[in-house]
Amino acid sequence: MRQSEYIELEDKFGANNYKPLDVIIEKGEGVWVWDVDGKKYMDCLSAYSAVNQGHCHPKIKQAMLEQAEKLTLTSRAFRNDQLGPFYEELCTLTGSHKVLPMNSGAEAVETAIKAVRKWGYLVKGVPEDRAEIIVCADNFHGRTITIVGFSTDPTARKGFGPFTPGFKVIPFGDYKALENAITPDTVGFLVEPIQGEAGVIIPPEGYFKKVRGICTANNVTLILDEIQTGLGRTGKLLAEEHEGIEADLTLIGKALSGGFYPVSAVLSNSEVLGVLKPGEHGSTFGGNPLACAVARAALKVLTEEKLIDNSMNVGAKFLSGLKEIKNAKIKEVRGRGLLLAVEFKSNAGGARSYCEKLKEQGLLCKETHGNIIRFAPPLVITSEQVDWALDRIKPILSR
Ligand SMILES: *Cc1c(COP(=O)(O)O)cnc(C)c1O
Repeated sequence: MRQSEYIELEDKFGANNYKPLDVIIEKGEGVWVWDVDGKKYMDCLSAYSAVNQGHCHPKIKQAMLEQAEKLTLTSRAFRNDQLGPFYEELCTLTGSHKVLPMNSGAEAVETAIKAVRKWGYLVKGVPEDRAEIIVCADNFHGRTITIVGFSTDPTARKGFGPFTPGFKVIPFGDYKALENAITPDTVGFLVEPIQGEAGVIIPPEGYFKKVRGICTANNVTLILDEIQTGLGRTGKLLAEEHEGIEADLTLIGKALSGGFYPVSAVLSNSEVLGVLKPGEHGSTFGGNPLACAVARAALKVLTEEKLIDNSMNVGAKFLSGLKEIKNAKIKEVRGRGLLLAVEFKSNAGGARSYCEKLKEQGLLCKETHGNIIRFAPPLVITSEQVDWALDRIKPILSR
């Protein structure tokens, strides 16, 4: 089939809730993907940071194939031989006490909301049905009704109400706003360490140290959504390490499976996840042996191959390369590790056409919010491959 025929099929039979670049990918390996005509591209999006370990990593693939031969799903009605070791390895790696495994990122967010509400009633002593969670403007935490209900993006919300009550929105990066928003009914502050979908928005230095102090002083749980920033993306295992703080709940997903399978998790101390009792929460596929085996391999690859250090090192090089671009239409270049962005001025005509041109040059990236391009290649990218990318990006973004 020709590329145009694949596009026609998608557009005719599929819901049109995405506006993808018109490239039909059929194969991937490391940082590279190939389209159905055999054209090769460097992937500088990594499925929104879900393929940090690179496409079709051989060790993760091997673990998936071996587990698929043996056992895939038991449900949590029974135990399985992958779940316990997965818990232990994840807790050891992240310094957590307890794990609650789910599938998608949005489910991890929903799970955290349920857990901190229950914690609020049982431990903090908030009167029933009064729990409040504070979130930030321009957040992205997923697509369920509850989550889009506290989004400030009109496209994400419009037409989907009525929404779940119990959320309060404050500006991102403003710790005084957090201090002022907290009431005796506040049970949690849900926030991204760096706002990825909003366009790689990095908060002011020291913000999270202040936030951590305010949450502790007011007995409010700090819930960090590290679904995009976690697992090496920003040059640390978790982005919270840049500020030397620890969240009470940490949400991970995306790269937890290296892109093979939807796996997410809520990580916490015993006090918060300890409030959930049998029957109060669950998921048929959450914690299944195939997911656990894949996630164990994905985590092992991350540490064994030193992908976190690589993210830090080649990320710094990628960022300084982007900063060399001279174009009056560029407003700002920013990033941490391999989560990078170029923001164009609002009158510059948008970022989409740059992404289309880069696609022609064999480099795939995606605009966000119209005028921002995010560059987030797999963490296996080498220094030479960064040069290759910059050789394509620089001339196009200079125009
Ligand atoms: C992608 C993402 C989610 C949602 O994950 P899904 O697997 O798409 O449900 C939540 N939070 C952040 C920060 C994300 O980047």
